[in-house]
Amino acid sequence: MILVVPIGDVPEDIVAGVSTFVNSYYSRLGLPVKVGDPLPVEVFESAFNPARGQFLGRAFLPVLAELGVGARAVLGITGLDLYEEGLNFIFGLAHPGLGAAVVSIFRLRPEFYGEPPNDELLLERTVKEAMHELGHVFGLGHCPRRDCVMHFSNSIVDTDLKGPLYCPACETQLMRNLGVMR
Ligand SMILES: [Zn+2]
Ligand SMILES: [Zn+2]
Repeated sequence: MILVVPIGDVPEDIVAGVSTFVNSYYSRLGLPVKVGDPLPVEVFESAFNPARGQFLGRAFLPVLAELGVGARAVLGITGLDLYEEGLNFIFGLAHPGLGAAVVSIFRLRPEFYGEPPNDELLLERTVKEAMHELGHVFGLGHCPRRDCVMHFSNSIVDTDLKGPLYCPACETQLMRNLGVMR
């Protein structure tokens, strides 16, 4: 089972849309999606860096992992702006050992780039980042193929260029890592 946990104020249709997509892919690999109760932002107060106005991404993962008892992976979705040491921002991150990942929609919103709001585009981007981070949880690295969801997104342009699915090589590796035969 993959547990999806909204953190703070995340649009319901984003949580539902991501869960539906991830479920349609991963349930056939034996990992159906369950949506958990939302976590209040206050839980991550200590991860806030006032100088940057951002939250330290890695602080989210142990908390999510703790919620995921019985789950193969926990995926947090947040509206908070995340960063890591040495990086201006991150779209998301994952920890295979913890079985946890988090994605932020903060910089996936078209409004962030001065464009008009677009729910469909926001969902598309969030689905890609969710599939990417789950790939990491299940042991995949970055992929050189620009259309593969495991391609590294340096900017939103990369996210928009890639598809929401794993390329054949990444998918084969994923199946192997999950112990799925086909
Ligand atoms: Zn990555
Ligand atoms: Zn690939």
